[in-house]
Amino acid sequence: MREAIHSVFLYYAIKEGMDMGIVNAGQMAIYDDLPAGLRKAIEDVIFNTDPDAGERLLAVAETFRGDGSTASKESDLSWRETSVQKRLEHSLVKGITDFIEQDTEEARVLLGAPINVIEGPLMDGMNVVGDLFGAGKMFLPQVVKSARVMKRAVAYLDPFLAAEKSADRVQGKIVMATVKGDVHDIGKNIVGVVLQCNNFEVIDLGVMVPAEKILDTAIAVGANVIGLSGLITPSLEEMVNVAKLMKERGMNLPLLIGGATTSKAHTAVKIEPQYDHPVVYVKDASRAVGVAQSLISHDLKADFAANIRKEYELLREERKARAKEVKRIPINKARENPALTDQAWLDYTPIKPSFLGRKVLDNFPLETLVERFDWSPFFQSWELHGLYPRILNDHVVGVEARKVFADAQAMLKQIIEEKWLTARAVFGFYPANRVGDDVEVYSDETRSEVIHVFYHLRQQAEKKRGGANNCLADFVASKASGVADYIGLFAVTAGVGIDEHVARFEADHDDYNAIMLKALADRFAEAFAETLHEIVRKEAWGYAADEALSNDDLIHERYQGIRPAPGYPACPEHSEKGTIWSLLEPDKLIGLEITESFAMTPTAAVSGSYFAHPEARYFGVGSLGRDQVEDYAHRKGWSIEKAETWLAPNLGYDPEDFAA
Ligand code: SAH
Repeated sequence: MREAIHSVFLYYAIKEGMDMGIVNAGQMAIYDDLPAGLRKAIEDVIFNTDPDAGERLLAVAETFRGDGSTASKESDLSWRETSVQKRLEHSLVKGITDFIEQDTEEARVLLGAPINVIEGPLMDGMNVVGDLFGAGKMFLPQVVKSARVMKRAVAYLDPFLAAEKSADRVQGKIVMATVKGDVHDIGKNIVGVVLQCNNFEVIDLGVMVPAEKILDTAIAVGANVIGLSGLITPSLEEMVNVAKLMKERGMNLPLLIGGATTSKAHTAVKIEPQYDHPVVYVKDASRAVGVAQSLISHDLKADFAANIRKEYELLREERKARAKEVKRIPINKARENPALTDQAWLDYTPIKPSFLGRKVLDNFPLETLVERFDWSPFFQSWELHGLYPRILNDHVVGVEARKVFADAQAMLKQIIEEKWLTARAVFGFYPANRVGDDVEVYSDETRSEVIHVFYHLRQQAEKKRGGANNCLADFVASKASGVADYIGLFAVTAGVGIDEHVARFEADHDDYNAIMLKALADRFAEAFAETLHEIVRKEAWGYAADEALSNDDLIHERYQGIRPAPGYPACPEHSEKGTIWSLLEPDKLIGLEITESFAMTPTAAVSGSYFAHPEARYFGVGSLGRDQVEDYAHRKGWSIEKAETWLAPNLGYDPEDFAA
């Protein structure tokens, strides 16, 4: 009943919203999908047509389940009585694989040739899917499920197809790759699936692909577009390299840029100026099709490219203007305003960890990690936006969110029972003290031998309201204070063993489950980082032995101390991960490797440092002045150019302005 009342309000709220122009047709359109019986019952109540309207709505409401569909819907096979063309369309739009081989065979016989099935009912069905997604009437998980149906049908037809050419059906060819040094591919795979659903031929080169290979392939296959993806910040620089190389080679293919750390601003400021042909940032899978279509269309391309160019030019100017407004203070001044002064350290006596050195946890029980899941990012990876648990009842994406959530639960059960994944961690504690913005790590309590140094960055923004110019080093007692302090390090992964299962799904043309598994492995890794941090606070380091926090408290970081991870805002420079690897050796001890760009493989992994001080906070370093970059380069024994490359996303100036 609540479901039905909810629908009544929703229906009219949205209708009103549309009249007022604040709700778009896509959002409205999902209400077209309200079963006619329910809609009629709702309208009868609203318009008060007769005294029994309320009773009728109650009766109708009874037949609805929590997921918004009728109880009998799935077993309703009346659609099986329609033509084979209609049946194929239905299977595609609804993502049903149960009958796909049988219907495809029937269509093949009926239409005389396999190509007629692909170019006829299958393409028609996928066009419906593409249109619904484009109009916001379908969400990403459904599209990926539709793609699974399509791929099964094409795989079935494949042996019959060999002799025939099917080039006509292709709108365009796109070569896609995760750039050199990076291994993240969930986003790229999703975009690939969505483009395939819209008749693009996708040549996916996988991960860690060198620039030359991407360009050589694009030329060899006669691609119309190149798409680059990356998740970690060093990939941004690699994308700049690809653009430069395209120019050097005199290429003219449009370049698409996507992935979690990419942005329109970065694309406009850093990449687009390197190349004389279209470079376009693609925010998510739902935009990819429109952009790719515009770029291959004779009619649209010129205007589209000109508009993008204008938009990016404007963005660059705006950024320049804003950069001038940001007041940065010299690094020496910033150092006079640390988060914790030596005076402040007098009020706190660091706790000595229960052991020094490192420890390995192997085969950590997965079922205990599930309780620590932060589900919101899981929905994000399916491009369903909203916070868990509220998202499950969201007016627009709730139905879809509940479906992927249910599928996730089913897969979680399998992952745990059949041990698809192995969770491993290595963590350790070391005597450490701050020296300037560095943290020295010592071999033992005598603190006479420095075995490694962490180099940190400090906020340089002018703090008007009395805030500190934070630097992670501030959260460790200084050497000069004489206080014996410690630092913790950790590296966890939940991705050991994932490859064979992903490969199994991919071989079965099942992107939906391949993506699902990767997204869940990421959740396990983050939950493991959360769980290990808790163990560290309460026992291993033991500085918060009496802590009692709920999962929600943990997600909101209501604990003492922090676990910053290199590559995140407080320590954005990824190469510092190398120091963690020198000390903990996760590659040798738990099979967690790092690439040349310091991306971790398996990708379902988190690594970082522990700081125990009660005042320790996450923050963002923000933009850096050249004085700090020079100082950083000097401390790390790097050239300025090298430091500028690794710190590129945080530079508060244009290195060219300083070029000799
Ligand atoms: N609960 C989220 C956490 C994502 S952030 C999830 O499950 O996805 C991932 C990790 O980045 C955190 O565990 C923490 O180690 C680190 N982190 C978060 N904010 C940070 C910041 N501002 N600076 C450095 N590291 C940060």
